[in-house]
Amino acid sequence: MANPLLSDRNVEFLLHEVLDTKALLALPAFADHTIETCEMYVQSARKLAREVLYPAYKPMDQAPPALDGGQLRVHPAMHAIYPRLVELGTITATRPPSVGGASLPTCVATLANAYLMAANLSAYGYAGLTTGAARLLESFGTDELRERFMTRMYSGEWTGTMALTEPQAGSSLTDVKTVAKPVENAGHYLVRGSKIFISAGDHDLTENIVHLTLARIEGAPAGIKGVSLFAIPKKRIDPKTGALVSNDVHVAGVIHKIGWRGIASLAINFGEQDDCHGWLVGEPHRGISYMFQMMNEARIMVGLNAVATAAVAYQESLEYAKTRPQGRPLGAKSPESPQVPIIEHADVRRMLLRQKAIVEGGLALVVEAARLQDLSEHATSDDERTRARLLLDLLTPIAKTFPAEKGFESNALAVQIHGGYGYTSEYLPESWLRDQKLNTLHEGTSGIQSMDLLGRKVIAGGGAALRALVDAIEKTIGRAKRAGVPDAWLTRLQGSVTAVGEVTMQLGELGMKGDVDAMMRHSFDYMEMLSIVVVAWQWIVQAAAAKEGLARGASEADRDFYEGKLAAAQYWVSTELPRVGTLGALCRSNEDSYARARATWF
Ligand SMILES: Cc1cc2nc3c(=O)[nH]c(=O)nc-3n(C[C@H](O)[C@H](O)[C@H](O)COP(=O)(O)OP(=O)(O)OC[C@H]3O[C@@H](n4cnc5c(N)ncnc54)[C@H](O)[C@@H]3O)c2cc1C
Repeated sequence: MANPLLSDRNVEFLLHEVLDTKALLALPAFADHTIETCEMYVQSARKLAREVLYPAYKPMDQAPPALDGGQLRVHPAMHAIYPRLVELGTITATRPPSVGGASLPTCVATLANAYLMAANLSAYGYAGLTTGAARLLESFGTDELRERFMTRMYSGEWTGTMALTEPQAGSSLTDVKTVAKPVENAGHYLVRGSKIFISAGDHDLTENIVHLTLARIEGAPAGIKGVSLFAIPKKRIDPKTGALVSNDVHVAGVIHKIGWRGIASLAINFGEQDDCHGWLVGEPHRGISYMFQMMNEARIMVGLNAVATAAVAYQESLEYAKTRPQGRPLGAKSPESPQVPIIEHADVRRMLLRQKAIVEGGLALVVEAARLQDLSEHATSDDERTRARLLLDLLTPIAKTFPAEKGFESNALAVQIHGGYGYTSEYLPESWLRDQKLNTLHEGTSGIQSMDLLGRKVIAGGGAALRALVDAIEKTIGRAKRAGVPDAWLTRLQGSVTAVGEVTMQLGELGMKGDVDAMMRHSFDYMEMLSIVVVAWQWIVQAAAAKEGLARGASEADRDFYEGKLAAAQYWVSTELPRVGTLGALCRSNEDSYARARATWF
């Protein structure tokens, strides 16, 4: 059977039984939609993903875009795929009709995008990056900039990029050096500088590309407060002729990547001939705060990339495990007895259940973050919007890091289940493993996300976000109790939530005393601890919905589906939640081996 990319039943489960889609669709912002229109969109994306994007995945991995006389040429398959993504409405699905969008809830678009990403992450990337870049112009650009750039990006005529990173400024964007010099009475700046790793930074899919770029206005203060945001097109419109002419933007080199190979990441030079025009977006020196809007959305997108990449590999290993005959059951003595499919071995099911727990726990988390994004923008009361924003801010680094870190483990399990064949390039799991590694790196490495979580998100507003999380978990526990989820699971979750609260309090006190080093020493362990609890919450949500489904009276296939959910929930609660104690103790212990180790000791 061809790889289904994701379990359709699981997507339906999230849409109908887990997310409160009806309540969301009752909001005025989504008045144009019904559950049927949402389903239709997901189904169209699924069809495109399976029939068009997935068949091109391996060819695109094997023949990455290449430079041809200064112009980057994409894989021929991409020329057929890109217009189909535009036609589906991928770029503007969640945007309002005023800018040509369909105003779909983000959580619905997230489920649709999960299929596209699982099928071919690189192909999706051209559309996804364009949405993010155009969104910045929608939020912060003047009418003129929106007309000049955003409209053409949302229509798919031009694409967009996010141009932040420079060789000396990766995690530390404070150190951006690209310079923008105002041109008197011209309305634009002359930009000069070099960026690196710019994904979709050049291609031959559309005639123009707009780079949303961080740069410093000449004379700006040092540090993060001197960084501004510019829109820099590859080609600019000549005011006299209206034709597109070169804007002095050049590809300086192609990065040779180990994964995500269907889309190019490039070194780009702006202003080699001092003729690169850039347009300031918003106010001077506020570039980082604007970029943060895009980065937060981008972080959740990266979490979804990670889930999707783990999901497609899980589906592949599941099918392989059902069809690969090898060995006999432990009790079968006779060598004459037939071999059994490897899924009959409990140790293979151990790996499959771990993959399922990571993939479906991760997807539920990312979709919940997307639902909070919808509420934070569109809920009708201030109070609801604020609560959703608080929780979303807390969950964002987790929704990015958990699927990336554990997704990599899940992708490695897909290789493992394929045995020696998994270690060959004839089979696909190795390529998804390469693709997945990126997600722990871009949009802020896991280390940086962990420091953001502990240093900013959990302590923001005196711990208000953590209290919002505790409230949400308690609501779930109430629902799960009523549904008949075993008490022992709920007690364990409750105990872990209390433990996280105590650890956070102690670390917060260290911070208040000024011992930031001690507070932050185990931020990565803290991230893992809180991720385990948050994913356990999502597994209890799913267990409650499964119990409710069983109580309604389910078909045999649905009973299997719900039992699978309960097995994965049990697995997470029993094997992962106990680790919260160890990780919490580590965070509180002042254990300082690597912190005090000197560079010369290594
Ligand atoms: C395939 C790919 C695509 C990309 N696409 C884009 C794009 O489209 N646009 C764009 O602007 N950028 C893009 N990037 C860049 C990406 O965002 C950066 O690579 C990332 O932010 C890390 O920066 P760096 O590579 O300079 O690593 P560094 O910042 O040098 O980090 C190296 C290591 O040091 C750690 N570290 C760094 N600083 C600290 C600190 N203060 N405390 C603790 N640990 C620290 C990091 O966690 C990491 O493990 C892309 C990167 C890749 C690989």
